[in-house]
Amino acid sequence: MKSAPEEIILGDVSVTRIKEFYGSVEMTPAEFFPGSTPQSWEQHRDWLAPDFWNPGTNEVRVALQTWLLRSGGRTILVDTGAGNHKERPYAPFWSHRDTDFLDNLAAAGARPQDVDLVVNTHLHTDHVGWNTRLDGRSWVPTFPNATYLIPQRDFDFWNPANNNPSVFGRGNQNVFEDSVTPVRDAGLVQLWDGVHRIDGNLKLELAPGHTPGSSVLHLESGSDRALFVGDLVHTPHQIVEPDNNSCFCEDPAEARATRQRLFGLAATTGALVFPAHLPGPGGVQVERRGTRFAISDWAGFSRIS
Ligand SMILES: [Zn+2]
Repeated sequence: MKSAPEEIILGDVSVTRIKEFYGSVEMTPAEFFPGSTPQSWEQHRDWLAPDFWNPGTNEVRVALQTWLLRSGGRTILVDTGAGNHKERPYAPFWSHRDTDFLDNLAAAGARPQDVDLVVNTHLHTDHVGWNTRLDGRSWVPTFPNATYLIPQRDFDFWNPANNNPSVFGRGNQNVFEDSVTPVRDAGLVQLWDGVHRIDGNLKLELAPGHTPGSSVLHLESGSDRALFVGDLVHTPHQIVEPDNNSCFCEDPAEARATRQRLFGLAATTGALVFPAHLPGPGGVQVERRGTRFAISDWAGFSRIS
């Protein structure tokens, strides 16, 4: 029998992480973060290894996890991972996955029909996968009673009809068609831009750079604060070296500026920062160190690597 995943409580909101995958992303630090030096990874080896970096194989380790929030009586998912059975010809790492994600969600007490809101922080392949599931030969909404909140700017950017060039090349091929269009056609999508208030505890705000519509979910409840930042960072190395972008950031200068802004906010307000891809304790508390940041504490989840 599976034990229920851990939950932490922030103000009136509960936060649970739902596992899809933890492990190597089969990229070296230099491939994933072209601006980072081997010396800087060595310098932080004592805490980057083993959760975030395997120095033996020199591979970056990541999580693929969904944040399950319960707020104001509603069940909310932040990002929906890679999904099962998706055809990703130019992103083979995310192709044809077959995980027990929905069982893990059920173990946390949420069946697909219980989900009220789905937040896609952006529309990369590894953030929208479980928006849909395969039913026979058709992609159908996994969460039939949910409203899917999608940033208008990413909806437009990744819409194949607009034929926008991307640093991701063709990596997002098929994603819009199998993971966005079916929920849009089912009438479940609400597009938003700028700022979108979800309830008294939660607010979405644009945080562009990684993609044009990348966004952050602000949690503010009682005296507790948290930021669900999507792909603002893929590794805590980018907290201590905030100018280092991933190779998947569409606008490098804007990505750096947004990282500085949101880490600055987190350092000032004491907000916990929950990226999409952090294994280990899943989230961090940051403090300012000049133009950089340091990790002052980790979130209260048990370490997973
Ligand atoms: Zn991602």
